[in-house]
Amino acid sequence: MKQVIGIVFGGKSGEHDVSLMSASNVIDVMDKSKYDVVKIGISRTGEWMMYNGDTKRIAADTWQQDEKNLIKGFSIFDHPIIKNVDVFFPILHGPNGEDGTVQGLFKLLGKPFVGCGVLASSVGMDKVYSKILFEHAGIPIGDYTSLQRGDWKTSEEDSIVEIEKKLQYPFFVKPANMGSSVGISKVHNRQEAIEGIKEAFKYDSKLILEKAINCREVECAVLGNESPIASILGEIVPSQEFYDYKAKYIDGDKSALIIPANLDESTTQQIREYAVKAFKCVNGRGLSRVDFFVDKDTGDVLINEINTLPGFTNISMYPKLWEATGISYVELIERIISLAIDEFNS
Ligand code: ATP
Ligand code: MG
Ligand code: MG
Ligand code: MG
Repeated sequence: MKQVIGIVFGGKSGEHDVSLMSASNVIDVMDKSKYDVVKIGISRTGEWMMYNGDTKRIAADTWQQDEKNLIKGFSIFDHPIIKNVDVFFPILHGPNGEDGTVQGLFKLLGKPFVGCGVLASSVGMDKVYSKILFEHAGIPIGDYTSLQRGDWKTSEEDSIVEIEKKLQYPFFVKPANMGSSVGISKVHNRQEAIEGIKEAFKYDSKLILEKAINCREVECAVLGNESPIASILGEIVPSQEFYDYKAKYIDGDKSALIIPANLDESTTQQIREYAVKAFKCVNGRGLSRVDFFVDKDTGDVLINEINTLPGFTNISMYPKLWEATGISYVELIERIISLAIDEFNS
């Protein structure tokens, strides 16, 4: 019997385009003798649609103009095609996709789904809460502080003074809940800080501000449920001053991904251990990519963040790390689908 996989893509978040790329790559390579795919797209305004047309139009972002292949205005709880889905596979990034909200919907629908559950997704998405958990688990983190929009609105001056007491320039300003570097800036003085804060508040009502580490960036892929495994490591050498949206997706070919990362054995093992620890401390399931900094000055390893639904195009770091560890893209997709079923039945 073929399994029916409900691939959910698009979404209201700032990472909509990344999702389209990941979803079309995944659908293309899935073994159609094993799986029937139901394509469920979410528009930028949050409308859910079933799409039965050419997958190429997902990558090209023209699927919503393919009217004859769209089903709109259905109830996710009642539609027979949705009821027939065996496993949901959210290929969504950022808020409303990676943050536990859609995971909660799958739970209400009573179906298995790929990846982390509600709690792991929401704390993994929130860079402030995840840092609190990492620290609690004994994983080293860099200096940081947070900023609420309410406090900023009350007094920009007080907020900036408070931040400057805690962090020296340069530091990073990030929306607490986002990904793909959307809304992130590295700021070198007060003027830039104010601009960076305003920009980041477009995406979230809470920000994290972090000491800028003079670092190498190393990433580790984690796979599994209760006994997760860590991949070999990859290093990113960004084409820009840091790995911003442009370096990731526009000049992607100018940033280098080095796999395996050229690190000594003990640092490598340390990072792989921390990656599994980070996954466990948020109660991770299925998959995550854990990002680290190796301080160029001291050699110290610091955790940056966990991404519970990492970029999943065929050239993204997560699949590439598994490929280098011995699990192909196609096999990886099959593994995470069967992990979803195992988790549902456990
Ligand atoms: P993604 O989920 O796509 O990895 P993100 O939006 O969650 O990205 P981060 O990974 O936290 O954002 O940061 C994006 C990039 O900014 C990092 O890959 C790194 O290049 C740089 N960066 C972020 N924080 C720091 C820091 N504290 N010190 C030095 N560089 C940083
Ligand atoms: Mg991230
Ligand atoms: Mg993310
Ligand atoms: Mg990152």
